[in-house]
Amino acid sequence: MASSEIEVVSSDSKAQQNPSEAPVIDVFSACAYGDFQKLRKFVEEDGASLSQPDLNGYYAIQWAALNNFPDIVQYIIEHGGDVNATDNMQQTALHWVAVRGAIAVADVLLQNGARVEAVDVNGYRAVHVAAQYGQTAFLNHIVVKYQADFDAPDNEGRSPIHWAAYKGFADTIRLLLFRDACQGRQDKEGCTPLHWAAIRGHVEACTVLVHAGTKQELMVKDNAGFTPAQLASDKGHRHVALFLSNAQRAHSNHWLGKFWSGKMADIGYAPILFCTIIILTVLFINSILAAPNLPKVTAVVGLWGWAAVSVSVGSLVMFYRCSKDPGYLKRPGDVGYHKDTEDLLLNIDLNNSSMWTGNWSQLCPTCKIVRPVRSKHCPICKRCVEQFDHHCPWISNCVGKRNKWDFFVFICMGFLTSFLSAAVAIQRIWTSTPNILTEETWVHHVVVQHPGVVAFLLLDFIILLACTILTTSQASQIARNITTNELANAIRYGYLRGPDGRFHNPYNHGCQKNCADFLIRGYTDDNEIAWPALQQVAR
Ligand SMILES: [Zn+2]
Ligand SMILES: [Zn+2]
Repeated sequence: MASSEIEVVSSDSKAQQNPSEAPVIDVFSACAYGDFQKLRKFVEEDGASLSQPDLNGYYAIQWAALNNFPDIVQYIIEHGGDVNATDNMQQTALHWVAVRGAIAVADVLLQNGARVEAVDVNGYRAVHVAAQYGQTAFLNHIVVKYQADFDAPDNEGRSPIHWAAYKGFADTIRLLLFRDACQGRQDKEGCTPLHWAAIRGHVEACTVLVHAGTKQELMVKDNAGFTPAQLASDKGHRHVALFLSNAQRAHSNHWLGKFWSGKMADIGYAPILFCTIIILTVLFINSILAAPNLPKVTAVVGLWGWAAVSVSVGSLVMFYRCSKDPGYLKRPGDVGYHKDTEDLLLNIDLNNSSMWTGNWSQLCPTCKIVRPVRSKHCPICKRCVEQFDHHCPWISNCVGKRNKWDFFVFICMGFLTSFLSAAVAIQRIWTSTPNILTEETWVHHVVVQHPGVVAFLLLDFIILLACTILTTSQASQIARNITTNELANAIRYGYLRGPDGRFHNPYNHGCQKNCADFLIRGYTDDNEIAWPALQQVAR
């Protein structure tokens, strides 16, 4: 397989150099270094031609295009340069533009008659080159504005999504999948995009492809008979191999695999948690409050005991409320979904929008929506959730904008009831045993005489520990207005980085306001944040 790995257009020979260091001796170097004055002199005074290639067969328009000089490109076109001139590799200026993703130059070329589907000797079009270099904004631009075919195969049968997968550009893959690029196509070696992402060990690319894909892509074999999981394992990419084989198991027909990875993942542990709460409450009433072998409860202990039972019942109500809509984002076809334009990405002002932060991970290839910042697609619920916190298997639901308050109250109640009932249980046992016994025999006495209390305390301590950890971490996140997902994946989100590149949370309005917003409304309003211009588009 190693010998078959694909070669890409090299950008090294086309690197931009500092104009002050390089001598500008002819029209080609003037174009490459953007020296408009000298270019004019060569053309208008010395009569140099702009329609002839240099010694290597490259054209002036290619050099100006590669190095992003739209005004020079315009000048060349007006002075006899051919927008569709091809070098020895049959590449046009548009191929070279795609390397850098310079949108302004592409506009000049395409508006002056450049062919968007021009093919070089390898069968690469501008869309392939853009995918090879991860120029997502550029790719989107030529697809939306000039109807470039984003699914066209090259000479080896590879479409742009194969290339994006091979190079590990997850954002480019997201865009292509969002536009319904075919992810099941096999190239001449029988490889799908997932095969290539697996061969190269690109974790994020594999994740995006698997979440948006079907069972077919996981099971399909290349010409040598290997699935993506086998190839990843062959190449020593253990994380990818493990991820792919887990995904395969979830889709497998074997009932046990399906049960554990499929059905069980869907149902989660909510029934177990529900039964645990019921069992604990019954045990508490039977073995502690109304136990026949313990003295009658005093008024104070009884009050605390029944308070613990009430909170426990209350927590069941909150448990039920947690299972409601966590803030699913509407998809095309859902009731109440507003689609006000033909193309979603056309409607977004990529340069300045509170909706768009220049993060292509805002595209959901599965739900086909552009989701607001802070939301995420949950692969278990198979929906995008607004202000996604995490998917909690214990409530079998996501925690998001709409149910985070309920979730927080639920775990607080869990903490309170387990703490109160443990205190009451210990008090009851302590006061009921004779003082004359030594410590060892006291423990023995309790285990033999009150097994129900011991069972209750063991289970209750586990719940108490879990609730304490959860409540503390959630409270600290609420105080800073950051979600569990953002904390865990901070590196992935551009909006969590300040101008100096270090972590900065733009949603943190100070502890007091964060907490007040959460307690009153259950969430904070994110729409007030104004985002800086998108880098890829601005240049
Ligand atoms: Zn989604
Ligand atoms: Zn979920």
